[in-house]
Amino acid sequence: MAIATINPATGETVKEFASLTDEEITQRLELAQQTFEQYRNTSFAQRAEWLNAAAQGLDDRKTEFGKLMALEMGKPIAAAIAEVEKSAWVCRFYAENADKFLQDLTVETDASHSFIRYQPLGVILAVMPWNFPFWQVFRFAAPALMVGNVGILKHASNVPQCALAIEEIFLQAGFPQGAFQTLLIGSDQVAQIVADDRIKAATLTGSEAAGASLASACGKQIKKTVLELGGSDPFIVLESADLEAAVETAVTARLINNGQSCIAAKRFIVQESIAETFAEKMAAKFAALKVGDPMNPDTNIGPLATPDILNDLDAQVKTCLQQGAKALVGGDRATLPNGNYYLPTVLTDLPAGCPAYQEEFFGPVALLFTVPNLDAAIQLANSTSFGLGASAWTQNAEERDRLINELEAGCVFINGMVKSDVRLPFGGIKRSGYGRELGVDGIREFVNIKTVWIK
Ligand code: NAP
Repeated sequence: MAIATINPATGETVKEFASLTDEEITQRLELAQQTFEQYRNTSFAQRAEWLNAAAQGLDDRKTEFGKLMALEMGKPIAAAIAEVEKSAWVCRFYAENADKFLQDLTVETDASHSFIRYQPLGVILAVMPWNFPFWQVFRFAAPALMVGNVGILKHASNVPQCALAIEEIFLQAGFPQGAFQTLLIGSDQVAQIVADDRIKAATLTGSEAAGASLASACGKQIKKTVLELGGSDPFIVLESADLEAAVETAVTARLINNGQSCIAAKRFIVQESIAETFAEKMAAKFAALKVGDPMNPDTNIGPLATPDILNDLDAQVKTCLQQGAKALVGGDRATLPNGNYYLPTVLTDLPAGCPAYQEEFFGPVALLFTVPNLDAAIQLANSTSFGLGASAWTQNAEERDRLINELEAGCVFINGMVKSDVRLPFGGIKRSGYGRELGVDGIREFVNIKTVWIK
């Protein structure tokens, strides 16, 4: 994939970039390693000062960065600005709490003193996706830099200007040259970087195929990975739920980021007694949304990030329709002259075996399933290979407890939509990946958990 800014609203190639040569990559890795030797000895207070300055830099330029995201991947401008603010939040959170999260932990044993010390590992590679071009990077970088690690970013090829802007933010905040570097490279250059001794671990947020590729490259080198991959999150609505609140939230949960979010609710599993009302209300809300230019503040749904994503989504929808599904609303590309636009779509009557049961739909398409009871809801929810998030709606305490215990997911949200929060761990199980970001668990992924025993 060429490294370029291609406006998804128009198809225009705005700017192209050459990928780094092997020699340039080696120079950057050497700079990262040399920086680490010094940087690991800086104090928490010093790192926190720089990270707070990065947060301020984000806040000061949030409109500019928001426009850059909208230009490169089509996110509606208001959501893009909110993403910059959330990125500042994760910086401030770890600036404030890293010291506490990484304190020595005493454990009583037969030693006179035994404890656990958390130490940095070195240079960490982050391979990141385009869908939250700022947030995904900052949720990796903020804890990594507070630990005393240094970061190398390989961002998605369609968001190079976001990638370069992030490097600039860290430099302007005062971090040393080499503490955080953006490498403009293709995915075919990742394995050679992983094989370099200076890289100590890697994380990837993206598709299953990319995750498997990075993990196997790291496996060959015995290097740790954290993987945040795809999802097809269930959104279960039972008879006792507050239906109005559930429908309102369902629309946001499905359509956030033009429907291109790993933790978007994708499969709506509704108890049959309320299914028709739920479907009608949801379809009406989808039909009322404004599809158009992401730079226009009135736009609800912008273009999909690339023509490939548009084509893949349309093919999935068409397959479901050919196999007997019905579109209550949408079901096709939007008729705008240019750009990767898709109509907000609600599919129902999905026949067993159609792609809706197993595949991730990465766009504004809600998949509606009707079930007779809680058992069937849980069974259907767990029937995919994914296990990222799950949202479930009920006012019944017994149902709630079963949902919490039995849903196969990295997180369960009751009567609310799945969202990431800097204070809580985030990540999946099954083919959605492993490891955690955010919270205390996130900052302890890329550390040497050193056991110390003193007689
Ligand atoms: P993608 O194609 O996997 O790309 C993600 C990143 O991986 C990009 O930087 C890409 O580089 C790189 N990449 C692709 N193939 C690679 C390979 N073989 N080896 C090393 N790196 C490789 O994913 P996407 O289509 O952009 O993103 C959508 C997917 O990400 C969805 O499945 C979504 O659910 C998932 N996602 C998960 C989370 C989470 O937290 N769990 C968050 C957001 C998105 P190029 O751009 O150069 O190809």
